[in-house]
Amino acid sequence: MTRTADVVVIGGGANGTSTAFHLSLLGVRNVVLLERRHLAAGATGKSGALVRMHYTNEHESRLAFESLKVFRNFGEIVGGDCGFEGVGFLQLVGHGHADALRRNVERQRKLGIATRALAPGDLAEILPGVQTRDIGAAAWEPDSGFADPSATAFAFAEGARRRGATIETGVEVQRVLTEGGRVTGVETRAGRIATPSVVVAAGAWSTPLLSPLGLDYPLTPHRIQVSIFRWPAGFTRRHPAVIDSVHAAWWRPEGTASTLIGVELGSGHADPEKFDESVDASYVGICHAALGGRWPLMSPALMRGGWAGMIMMSADGRPIIDRIGPDGLWGMLGDSGTSFKTSPAIGRCLAEWIVTGAPSTVDLHPFRASRFAEGRPWQDADHYGGQSLTISR
Ligand SMILES: Cc1cc2nc3c(=O)[nH]c(=O)nc-3n(C[C@H](O)[C@H](O)[C@H](O)COP(=O)(O)OP(=O)(O)OC[C@H]3O[C@@H](n4cnc5c(N)ncnc54)[C@H](O)[C@@H]3O)c2cc1C
Repeated sequence: MTRTADVVVIGGGANGTSTAFHLSLLGVRNVVLLERRHLAAGATGKSGALVRMHYTNEHESRLAFESLKVFRNFGEIVGGDCGFEGVGFLQLVGHGHADALRRNVERQRKLGIATRALAPGDLAEILPGVQTRDIGAAAWEPDSGFADPSATAFAFAEGARRRGATIETGVEVQRVLTEGGRVTGVETRAGRIATPSVVVAAGAWSTPLLSPLGLDYPLTPHRIQVSIFRWPAGFTRRHPAVIDSVHAAWWRPEGTASTLIGVELGSGHADPEKFDESVDASYVGICHAALGGRWPLMSPALMRGGWAGMIMMSADGRPIIDRIGPDGLWGMLGDSGTSFKTSPAIGRCLAEWIVTGAPSTVDLHPFRASRFAEGRPWQDADHYGGQSLTISR
């Protein structure tokens, strides 16, 4: 007999598990999440997991702000621990972007986000000894920080399971089944599951699920890296999370005595089925230069490793969160290296859409799939010069 589900979610990363959790929370009884490897096996498990509200548009800030409320009250809302640490967040921009930053901060304050613009001279209090010659302005968010991305996905999955969802790992969806323009189920190596609703949250591995349905979005898998540096002797200060747009770098504390840093190289396409998960030696040098260049106290920091993960870039660097293709199909596609921090709200919005017919937490129209076909890819008026980048744009 064919198995049935009310909703099948494909992918056990932060977005798939959040969607399964929120569907269960909204009372959907028979939710089945299918993950081909293990929970957090994709971008989520490799994520830097910065949780910041600062974006150069209000739509992504709204998603991040709704998500922050979940990260900060995770035990009550979801149960378990997402490892959130509210170390604060600092956005640094160059002289040419100081006015844009102040306008972005103003937009965020109107949304209710705790943030304020700082002058370069204010930074020494937060990052003593920081090099500010090339900084025009900064934004400070006292409530932001970072989380443990794997713990977040595990807890969302466990929260869903406690409410009756089935979480299956080691099960790859081979295709989404349709009939007469409607989703009818999914096919896996372990058999078929009949369902009227499917959510594709398969990260950099989404294309093989979309192409057979004739869905062709401008999505490209990218390999991105991080490196970790042990603090030098005598350095004990737990610093905030930072995005340094001048160096296209982002960093945050890792453990009790290290800093995790990524620098955006604007790297190109990589095959998500066979990519190198270790960090390139040349990349470590680039990270070391970016960290020491901004914060000379860190120049003697010792390299302690790193890794690489796969993200799916959309053509305008923003995710697609939408109903796609046949009736009954939804997608969280093109995470663009920035969709961990927004995963609580993304999952909630998708669940609302499936259950009530429309998302109510955040307006998802700006994230519609059709923007590319309409010739209206996303552009922010007040960006910091790196529209094609992910985290540090
Ligand atoms: C190095 C790095 C640093 C990052 N830093 C940040 C950051 O600081 N802040 C931030 O917000 N974001 C960051 N990101 C991005 C963030 O991690 C991702 O946007 C987010 O984790 C995407 O989650 P997801 O659930 O959409 O996809 P993924 O985590 O990629 O999950 C997709 C899952 O689907 C599974 N899957 C694929 N195909 C199938 C199939 N056919 N059947 C069943 N399962 C399938 C995969 O195995 C995978 O587990 C970073 C990413 C990387 C790699």
